[in-house]
Amino acid sequence: MSIVVQNVNKKFGDFVALNNVSLEFPSGELVALLGPSGCGKTTLLRIIAGLETPDSGNIILDGADTSATPVRDRQVGFVFQHYALFKHMTVFDNVAFGLQVKNRKERPSKDEIAHKVHELLKLVQLDWLHDRFPAQLSGGQRQRIALARALAVQPKVLLLDEPFGALDAKVRKELRRWLRQLHDELHITSIFVTHDQEEALEVADRVVLMNQGNVEQIGSPDEVYEHPATPFVYGFLGNVNLFHGRVEGEGIQVGNDKLEHNYSSSISQGASVMAFARPHELDIVADNSRSDGVPAKIDRILSFGLNSRIELSAASSGGEYAQQFYEVELPKIEVVKRGLVEGQQVRIVPSQLRVFEKLSKN
Ligand code: ATP
Repeated sequence: MSIVVQNVNKKFGDFVALNNVSLEFPSGELVALLGPSGCGKTTLLRIIAGLETPDSGNIILDGADTSATPVRDRQVGFVFQHYALFKHMTVFDNVAFGLQVKNRKERPSKDEIAHKVHELLKLVQLDWLHDRFPAQLSGGQRQRIALARALAVQPKVLLLDEPFGALDAKVRKELRRWLRQLHDELHITSIFVTHDQEEALEVADRVVLMNQGNVEQIGSPDEVYEHPATPFVYGFLGNVNLFHGRVEGEGIQVGNDKLEHNYSSSISQGASVMAFARPHELDIVADNSRSDGVPAKIDRILSFGLNSRIELSAASSGGEYAQQFYEVELPKIEVVKRGLVEGQQVRIVPSQLRVFEKLSKN
């Protein structure tokens, strides 16, 4: 089922939770709604589900406006962060519930329900747990059962609100791979809310980046990571180093220092900018052969496998324009070859910079 969100606005009192949000998801897509706490992800999910009414705007499911469609007729299944399983019911009865409460005309026979529940439990790979009660399950198992229960009524849309948020890191990782596989088998249009960038980038076909009730960007994981549309997106997806400065010639003047950088851009000379670089896009020059770059002191060198993470702090000449701390990633062998050590004064030079003009919004 395709989903169109059209000019949706929602306020709670004076607080703008969603600011004119418009999005389109084709049938069968797996979408992540990603953003910091309070940015409106859950509100948007609840509006799509029909659990919350927008102040204005429409939700269109498979071409039909849903304003007058109650939740139970939207063919939407939900899974929430806090497992909403019935405590007093076995796994079997929890999964069967949605089928048992159907009106008499639509309700499958007892045998059909039993068959269907076992199929679903097999699908979530927990058939052997059908007699257990929720208290006798691990957190990850409960979420898989919650998903089986949501799937029992054959939803056309699956909405998942931080489905793995309450689980430890290892189980989360397993479950998100599993969710991807399950989605590839079932092709149900699915939207899941997360504030975990890695989860969104690993699992989703497309990622919607939200910030303060606005959609900042929508794109494939590769698009949003490699081509962030706004400083917010850049900062939110992974570690970044930030330089405040202004455009001068082909470089960026940062306080008394110059970042040489062949960037071609429509930003005019003299404009105030923010320049971003990921840790692997910065290099460290240890000798005095170059005068470009930002001076800094190596605070710590941490090595993991083949790479080293080098933490640095700005020397004073960066002044008020420079970020205080930087993080650079280099192959460990380069750190050894160049004789980099903690306490050393060096210069940081970018191999890659993404430059955004400072607007009042930023
Ligand atoms: P989180 O990741 O913390 O769950 P979120 O992005 O899902 O956050 P929402 O739950 O959509 O955010 O909330 C968006 C904003 O709207 C928050 O500031 C929240 O406090 C506010 N809000 C949500 N529901 C209500 C409500 N019923 N009444 C008043 N304010 C609300």
